[in-house]
Amino acid sequence: MMDQSDTIERVKEIIEDSQKIVVMIGIGAVIESGGENIWSSRECYRIEEFYHKSPDEMMSVGYYSARRDKFFDFYKREILGPDLKPASLYEDVRRLQATGKVLKVITQNYFDLEQEAGLSDVVGLHGNIKNNHCTHCGKEFPVEYIRESKGVPLCDDCGAPIRPGVLLFGETIHNDLMTEAVNACEEADMVLILGTNMSDSMVRYCTGNYAGEHLALITKEEHYTDRFADYVIHGKVGDVLPKVIA
Ligand SMILES: [Zn+2]
Repeated sequence: MMDQSDTIERVKEIIEDSQKIVVMIGIGAVIESGGENIWSSRECYRIEEFYHKSPDEMMSVGYYSARRDKFFDFYKREILGPDLKPASLYEDVRRLQATGKVLKVITQNYFDLEQEAGLSDVVGLHGNIKNNHCTHCGKEFPVEYIRESKGVPLCDDCGAPIRPGVLLFGETIHNDLMTEAVNACEEADMVLILGTNMSDSMVRYCTGNYAGEHLALITKEEHYTDRFADYVIHGKVGDVLPKVIA
């Protein structure tokens, strides 16, 4: 078995030799950017204590439809509340992207950190907090409009409720986005997975058709599915990336 410094050297070589890299960015990147994972057991507990519902229930399309006032109370506080700034790992990905070797950046995060950090070719599978629209007339609204609204944010043209631009539980990922992500993985000579693990639905679906042997995982927490990656480096993504991207 390789030790960690050998793995770091090997992943660095693979990145150097690759021409078509897919980068997948998971929730760990949000945490490194100052956010919380509301689906972690600690946060789930806090949320259930406070709201008497699980984060899954509160972020569901059913709850948005049935209890829109409570949905937005939760959404504004827990999703839009934390003040996030792109962690250094995004700058490393941007440097890698500047070499022209990155096919796509795929993420389930919707906090706009990728865009704020200047990344391009981003496939945001779960949408983006900035892309809000009126459910009746389709008018678009910036995130500040939702943040500053009292109660349920309503369209200033037609008065209908505004729909946040993120995927809710009970909804399926837009087919075109999924196809784009899967195709990129099929074409890739390397998949670089950051801040999540192999049990992540995004990773499972997208890498299902990846036929190569250069699937590298960089993540802080160990997980029993780590063995499904070809290379695993445990550590803060922002600490590891500068060592593997020249
Ligand atoms: Zn409207």
